[in-house]
Amino acid sequence: MITDVVIAGAGPNGLMLACELSLAGIRPLVLERLPERTQENRANGLVGQVVRMLDRRGLYERLAGNQDPPRPTPGFVFGALPIDLSVLDDNPFYILQVPQRRIEQMLEERAVELAVEIRRGHELTGFTQDADGVTLQVSGPAGPYTIETRYLIGADGGHSIVRKLAGITFPGVTTDHTIARTAHAVVPAEFVDPATGGLDIPGYGPIPQFLHHRTERGLFVYAPLPGTPAPLISTTEWNGQDAEGPLTLAELQASARRVLGVNIVVGPPDGQGPHLMRKLNGGNTRLAERFRDGRVLLVGDAAHVHSAIGGPGLNLGLQDAVNLGWKLAADVRGTAPAGLLDTYESERRPVAERVVMSSRAQSALIAPGSEVTGLRALFTELLGDPRNVRRIADLMSGADIRYEVGSDHPLAGRWAPDLDLEDGVRLAELTRDGRPHLIDFTGGDWGYPATAGLPGSAVPCTALLLRPDGYVAWATDVPQPDAESRASLRTAIQRWLG
Ligand SMILES: Cc1cc2nc3c(=O)[nH]c(=O)nc-3n(C[C@H](O)[C@H](O)[C@H](O)COP(=O)(O)OP(=O)(O)OC[C@H]3O[C@@H](n4cnc5c(N)ncnc54)[C@H](O)[C@@H]3O)c2cc1C
Repeated sequence: MITDVVIAGAGPNGLMLACELSLAGIRPLVLERLPERTQENRANGLVGQVVRMLDRRGLYERLAGNQDPPRPTPGFVFGALPIDLSVLDDNPFYILQVPQRRIEQMLEERAVELAVEIRRGHELTGFTQDADGVTLQVSGPAGPYTIETRYLIGADGGHSIVRKLAGITFPGVTTDHTIARTAHAVVPAEFVDPATGGLDIPGYGPIPQFLHHRTERGLFVYAPLPGTPAPLISTTEWNGQDAEGPLTLAELQASARRVLGVNIVVGPPDGQGPHLMRKLNGGNTRLAERFRDGRVLLVGDAAHVHSAIGGPGLNLGLQDAVNLGWKLAADVRGTAPAGLLDTYESERRPVAERVVMSSRAQSALIAPGSEVTGLRALFTELLGDPRNVRRIADLMSGADIRYEVGSDHPLAGRWAPDLDLEDGVRLAELTRDGRPHLIDFTGGDWGYPATAGLPGSAVPCTALLLRPDGYVAWATDVPQPDAESRASLRTAIQRWLG
């Protein structure tokens, strides 16, 4: 069998890439070793620009369950320190609370709508590549077979066989000193504060819902997630006890007592189990030295793994997929300008480096000990300054990404602002087809400096060229197209769209 693109892995990032390729006219084949979608729960939500990105593909409303556009969130946490985002005039921070299982289900439905073939129970076991293509060895329900493809994408998670067989190293650190315990469990009803939805524990005090809560002995989380059998209760300890064996509720309760210093009864919820989720020992922070080896590319966890603190994983991985999709499709179609596919790594690896930096910094801020308490007091002071709130909000959401696109307009290389266009159409509705757009705010001739067309942005702009991934490839503020601005637009079109 000969195909253009094979994606190994039908996790969220492989499925997103499949949708993007299909929108761009390339039908990939997705191989997934699991016969059915996993019921394992990982992410509980999407954090950052990814929420707006899904909106720009019409996928946000499928997850949110209504037609309203996403709204920024007034508060979040950085390293278990509250950040008041309401102080920002142009708050870039969006979150969507939704379990990963649901995200994967939605993306799979979308991929099937877009005629993507997903083969479940088919495991990639090996490959070889040469200048013209990649030969894959696959183990399917009916036995082993081979596939010839022009490109292979490793979307096969942190233990990626694609990355290993491509000889791409995965430098970083593995720590073994933390134990995180997580279960769906109930606490005594009188501990729940109806006013805040969080806990108010006698002898301890209030614990807000959904946010990491740190003490000098560890972390505690109380998250009454909608649609789950009981609140999610989680502890993280350093150099803790009972590292081995399956998690029990008694063990979770003992851990909560150590972390909070008071007794908190943790019981099973009503109804069918299993209610216990997992015990995770240690963690990995690793970044692939390259995202590409010839005709093999990596996306998502195959390219980077880091702590889940702050929930950056899918913000990073799904935007890898959207960055890669249109570039790879152009390459396969033969319309890609020289070097376009290489910009996937040059644009996305630095973004992953920043996520690694942010998650390491947050891991330091939640660690036990009185020195860390001092560091947190200092950070709390710093977060009283809206300029620092802006900086952290930009970092965690990914709103500070600026790709090098060869244009010096302040919007160039940045995520295009949300725009209301003619007839009340939102930019996010225009971009659902995944195509590039030239947006002219002047009614046809760049007639006036239309700052009014850019809510939240005081940047004069009369026209902009939008890449399929929602980033601005070129922008201008000249009131009338002149020879220079036309030439720079032409250069941008050639550079990004061929
Ligand atoms: C406890 C926990 C909590 C998290 N919380 C959050 C959160 O709140 N927000 C957030 O954004 N992120 C969170 N994350 C991170 C997020 O879950 C991952 O970033 C995400 O799952 C990565 O998606 P992926 O598609 O790259 O890889 P995966 O989800 O790992 O999918 C890879 C797929 O490839 C398949 N596969 C593997 N090998 C092969 C092969 N050889 N052939 C065929 N198929 C193969 C696997 O079966 C799997 O289906 C969390 C992670 C954990 C562990």
